Amino acid sequence: MADHAQSRTPDAPRDFIRDIIRADLASGRVPGVVTRFPPEPNGYLHIGHAKSICLNFGLAAEFGGRCHLRFDDTNPVKEEMEYIESIQEDVRWLGFDWGDHLHFASDYFEQLYAWAEHLIGRGLAYVDDLSAEEIRAHRGTLTEPGRESPYRDRPAAENLDLFRRMRAGAFADGARVLRARIDMAAGNINLRDPVLYRILHARHPRTGDAWCLYPTYDFTHGQSDALEHITHSICTLEFEDHRPLYDWFIENLPVPSRPRQYEFARLNLTYTVLSKRRLIQLVKERRVSGWDDPRMPTVRGLRRRGVPPEALRDFAARIGVTKANATVDVALLDHCIRDHLNTHAERRMAVLDPVRLVIENYPEDGEEWLDAVNNPEDPAAGSRRVPFCRVLYIERADFMEDPPKRFFRLAPGREVRLRYAYFVTCTGVVKNEAGEVVELRATYDPATRGGDAPDGRKVKGTLHWVSARHALEAEVRLYDHLFVRPDPGAEGDWLDDLNPESLAVVTARVEPSLAEAEAGRAVQFERQGYFCADPDSSSGRLVFNRTVGLRDSWARIQAREG
Ligand code: ATP
Ligand code: MG
Repeated sequence: MADHAQSRTPDAPRDFIRDIIRADLASGRVPGVVTRFPPEPNGYLHIGHAKSICLNFGLAAEFGGRCHLRFDDTNPVKEEMEYIESIQEDVRWLGFDWGDHLHFASDYFEQLYAWAEHLIGRGLAYVDDLSAEEIRAHRGTLTEPGRESPYRDRPAAENLDLFRRMRAGAFADGARVLRARIDMAAGNINLRDPVLYRILHARHPRTGDAWCLYPTYDFTHGQSDALEHITHSICTLEFEDHRPLYDWFIENLPVPSRPRQYEFARLNLTYTVLSKRRLIQLVKERRVSGWDDPRMPTVRGLRRRGVPPEALRDFAARIGVTKANATVDVALLDHCIRDHLNTHAERRMAVLDPVRLVIENYPEDGEEWLDAVNNPEDPAAGSRRVPFCRVLYIERADFMEDPPKRFFRLAPGREVRLRYAYFVTCTGVVKNEAGEVVELRATYDPATRGGDAPDGRKVKGTLHWVSARHALEAEVRLYDHLFVRPDPGAEGDWLDDLNPESLAVVTARVEPSLAEAEAGRAVQFERQGYFCADPDSSSGRLVFNRTVGLRDSWARIQAREG
C-alpha cells in the first residue's frame, strides 16, 4: 500500500471509499475518478439521496474527477418527466454540477439490446416462456437450489428469433422474458438466471413507443457505468448481493471499460421515513400538503422549510460513509442547520403569541426608530431600524403574575430590558372576565435608550417585542416531527405513528422589515428559532415556516427542576 499521508489535508474526510480511491489512483488501476449519481425518476429526491449526491459529487471534486447525473429510467410505468426535471433542479440547488454529463439509461437501450443478442449468441441468455409466478417458484430459496426452466436449453437461433419478435411487439406483456443463463444452483440467488428483459407495452417518457421490452435494473446499471467510463460505482448496501452479477455482465460483454461497484450504508433518520414508496403514499393520501411540505424529508420539503444547502452538505460530511447500517439522530441535522444559520441568518423580532404591553409614561403618539443589529455573529450584516411606540406586543409566555424562582422575565414590579430599546418595569395587569391577561402596563426609563442603564443597574431578562402600530400580522407555521416515534412502524402500522401535532399555525406580529422577507431565505426570530418566508406569502399576506427552533434553556431548567 502506498503512503498517501502527504496528499491528505488535515480536514480531508477519511473513509473506506476514499481509501479505495487513493489506492486505485496510487496503483494506476484508474487514471482518474469518475462517479455518477443514478436516480430513478419515480419520485422526488430525499435527504438519503442528498447523502449519495454529496458523496458522489464530493469525491469527484476532491479527486479532480467528474460526476455524472444519470437517470436510471428503465421502468416506464412509474417514471415521469416531472421527476426528471425536479431532480435536476434539486441537485443544482444542493450545489452540484454535472457539466456535460447528463445521461439517461434509455440512451443506451439500443446498445443494451445488442449486448443481449451477444449473450444469446454465446449461449449465455435464453428466452423463457414461464410466467412470472413460475419463475419465482423455480428460483429456490437461500437453503435450496433453484430448478432449471424447461426452456433453458433452447438453441441460440430459436432464442434470437423469439427475442427479435419480442422486440417487434409480437407478444403480450409478461408472455416471455429474456434471462441470463448462469447457474440455477448458485448460492447467490441473483445469479440464478436473472431476468434481463421484460415485455411491457408502455409509453416511455423519453423513448415514447420505440420499445415494448425494457431491460431490468441489473442488466442496465453496470453496462451504463461501463459506457460512461465510471471508475467507482457507489451504491447502497442492498446491492452488495448484486455485485457478482454486476461483475458477470462486465466480464461477459465487450464493454469499453471495467467499472467496479462499492456499497455503503444508506441513511436512516429518526422520526423520519425515507422510502420513496411511503413518501408517495403520504402525498397521495394527502397526509401532507405535497412533495414540498416542509415536514417532508424531501430536498423540496427541506428547502421550503428554510434548510440551506450548506447545512445539508455539512450534515452529509458529518455522518460520513460507513459499511454498517445505522440510524442517525435527526437532532444532528437540526444541529447542522442551526450551526449554519447562526452565522448566516439575520435576526428579526417577531412575537408568536402576542399580548399588549402599554408603556404608560410614553407619549400617546410618540414614535422612534431604534437601531437593531442584524447579526451579532456577522458585523458585515449591519443593522436596521425598528419602530418603538407606546403600545407594544410581547410574548405571553414572557410574563408571569406569580413567577417561580428562576423566571427572569416580566412580572409585577419587575424590571426587564426590551431589546434595542429601554428598560421597562411592570406596573399592572389587566384581565378579562375569564381571568386571562389581556394587557400589561409598564413604565419605561428614558435614560436606558439602546438597552443599557447609565447607572450600571442590571436586569436579568431581555425580551423581544414589536410595536403594535407598526407590526405586521403573519401566519406562522410551527412544524414538529412528522412521526411521534423515532422508529415509525417499528410496532404496527407506520401510518399510526404520524404525529397529529406536526403542524401548529399561529398568528404572529412581526417587525415591519419582514414585509420584504424572501421566500426560502432563513431569518432568526430572536429567542424563537429560525424561520423563512413560505411561497404561500403574497402581497398583503405573510406566511413563515419554522425551520428549526433555538434550544430552549427554560424548558431544560423546568425539566431539571421537575
Ligand atoms: P427505489 O426503491 O425507487 O429504487 P431509491 O431510494 O433507491 O428508491 P433511486 O432513485 O434508485 O431511489 O436512488 C438513487 C441513488 O440514491 C441510489 O444510488 C441509491 O443507492 C441512493 N439512495 C437512495 N436512498 C438512499 C439513502 N437513504 N441513503 C443513501 N443513499 C440513498
Ligand atoms: Mg434504487
